[in-house]
Amino acid sequence: MGQSRSIIAGLIASILLSPLALVDVGEAAATRKIARPRPKPSPAKCEMAKFRIVVDVGHTPDAYGALSARNDPEFGFNLRLASLITARLKSEGFAATRLLVTNGKARASLFKRVSAANDGRADLFLSVHHDSVPDKLLETWEFDGANSYFSDRFSGHSLFVSHQNPHFATSLLLARMIGRQLKEQGLHYARQYTLPVMGHYRRQLLDKDVGVYRYDGLVVLSRTRSAAVLLEAGSIINRDEEMEMNSSERQDAVAGAVAAAMREFCERR
Ligand SMILES: [Zn+2]
Repeated sequence: MGQSRSIIAGLIASILLSPLALVDVGEAAATRKIARPRPKPSPAKCEMAKFRIVVDVGHTPDAYGALSARNDPEFGFNLRLASLITARLKSEGFAATRLLVTNGKARASLFKRVSAANDGRADLFLSVHHDSVPDKLLETWEFDGANSYFSDRFSGHSLFVSHQNPHFATSLLLARMIGRQLKEQGLHYARQYTLPVMGHYRRQLLDKDVGVYRYDGLVVLSRTRSAAVLLEAGSIINRDEEMEMNSSERQDAVAGAVAAAMREFCERR
């Protein structure tokens, strides 16, 4: 996405989301008659080969994120799936896609990711994760002779965008497109994020059809200068879904959904 279009998209997002949108409908319509900008000149085409997608592997080898029901670190799941998504995007024409693997401690790694994306002038930052549950929901079982934790209560993928991102509208559009493609693959989204049981993990559901949530404070979504989406591809603390996430069928379905969404996004530019 070109810089000027980025600015325009940001302006449109800020206009749509300004308090103006909350005033009485008649008044807003009258105000819009004056304030509405002229239609944008036809935007340059999205050139797939030049569209810079950064596929971020969530967490690091040292700070590996969640632990699965079978005691495998989330980082490994993220690395496998993000690598597959990157390969799929490249093979479908998004030649400028790159995989971002970050080392070090958890919090410092977040800023390294943001710097890498911003310095590389990314058009889209896609962070790949796998989900767990708050500690209070964990139950115990024995796996491979070791006391282990699981929760089979929730499953599914989810998508997150930040209202603080300068391209919130584009981020939301992309997240919706990915969500719709995942739905078309027969996958369901994780509905628990609106529930009180999630405590401080509770989020506002922005799209109840395809599972896009709002997560304003997340560093990688709010500090990136490009559009940014975080994908929780599925729950690895759920014993059945962990096995699904290990299957090539599920991994291919997710990678295919992301690639299809990106093609759709580019075709519409
Ligand atoms: Zn994670």
